[in-house]
Amino acid sequence: MKDHMPDAIPVPEVVTVPIAGSEATFPVRHVYCVGRNYAEHTKEMGGDTKEPPFFFTKPASAVVPVVPPATGEIAYPLATKSLHHELELVVAIGKAGVRVAPEDAKELIFGYAVGLDMTRRDLQGQMKDKRWPWDIGKSFAQAAPVSPIHPIAATGVLTKGSIWLDVNGTRRQQGDLSDMIWDVAHTLHFLSQYYELLPGDLVFTGTPAGVAAVVPGDRLRGGVDGVDELSIVIVPPRW
Ligand code: MN
Repeated sequence: MKDHMPDAIPVPEVVTVPIAGSEATFPVRHVYCVGRNYAEHTKEMGGDTKEPPFFFTKPASAVVPVVPPATGEIAYPLATKSLHHELELVVAIGKAGVRVAPEDAKELIFGYAVGLDMTRRDLQGQMKDKRWPWDIGKSFAQAAPVSPIHPIAATGVLTKGSIWLDVNGTRRQQGDLSDMIWDVAHTLHFLSQYYELLPGDLVFTGTPAGVAAVVPGDRLRGGVDGVDELSIVIVPPRW
């Protein structure tokens, strides 16, 4: 037996996100997302704002790093006629933690980024109707464009600030981080009851109201005050 077995197929690359102000990069391990975390968006999705947060995941391979002033290109995905944007604050985890108390959660935060939780809304809706898993609505190629990560040492702990998205220059989403039903500390507290949070994890923290469909040619530009901006253009389907 050789001490190194050859790989039968190429080893997939680990997606890395640039870190603002640093030569170092942030290798992505897991991508967790919070469902319905702003009251107005919860109402537009027909939900109850008193529920505890719930979670879903995307594959790390769905992350597409986009560094301003560049515009990222996202191919319109397979099998949908309703690709929705959800502009979100993303928390990058730098330390391991499980069953984290809300008051200790900030110790786990490496930094923040701006992300888009792209969603095949029609497929998500079909799955909800059948009480089947949402995966095909949320997990697909290029489903998670992300800006560079800004270390918490530079940003401080974020609890308020405008969060917004324009499509073709028209404001579509507008909210404030202080509108979150569950703030970042409580989100990490709840999430860490189910998973050991690990360095490299990204947590999408939910989107304000105004989600809607985009089509090839649409240009999306969003941001979170105190973090960064993220711009993408939807390009025609690859398949
Ligand atoms: Mn979302």
